[in-house]
Amino acid sequence: MMQYVCDELELLVEIENKAIKQIQAVFDTSVGIETGGILIGYYTVKRDKAVITELSETPSDSKCGVNWFHRGIEGLKKLLVERWKTRDEYYLGEWHIHPFSSPMPSGIDRMQMISISKDKRFNCTEPIMLIIGGGKQLEISISLVFRGGIYTLESCD
Ligand SMILES: [Zn+2]
Repeated sequence: MMQYVCDELELLVEIENKAIKQIQAVFDTSVGIETGGILIGYYTVKRDKAVITELSETPSDSKCGVNWFHRGIEGLKKLLVERWKTRDEYYLGEWHIHPFSSPMPSGIDRMQMISISKDKRFNCTEPIMLIIGGGKQLEISISLVFRGGIYTLESCD
C-alpha cells in the first residue's frame, strides 16, 4: 500500500497493492507510447481518504502517441456498473503514463483535469490524476482538483 498526502486539504490518497502491481506492470511493459485509463475506488465516509483499488485497462478505442493520449470509452461503462454493483466502487479519476519522463502533470493534463471536474457526465468534481513516469525507476505523481485548483500530493514514504 502506498499513501500520498495533501496537507492543505487534509486528504490522504491510498493506492492498494493490487493497483500498485498494475502500475508496475504498466511501467515494466511500456513500449514508449502513452497509454492510460481510469481510476476506480472509493472515498471513506468522512471523505478524508480516497482509496484507489484498480486501474482500468486502456480502452480499445483510445488513441495514443509518444507524448499524447486520448482515452477512449469502450468497455468503461460496463466495468463501472459492475464495480458499483459488486463493490460500491466508482470512478475516481484518470491515469496515464509519461514514458521515460517526469510524472508531473503537463499543462494539457491540468486543463483536462479541470474540464473533467466541470463535466457533469463524469459526476466527479474532484478528479484524481495518477501519472506513471520515470526512467529506469518507477515514479508516480498524484494530483487532484479541488474548487478549481490543482494540488499535487506528497508521498508519505
Ligand atoms: Zn500527461
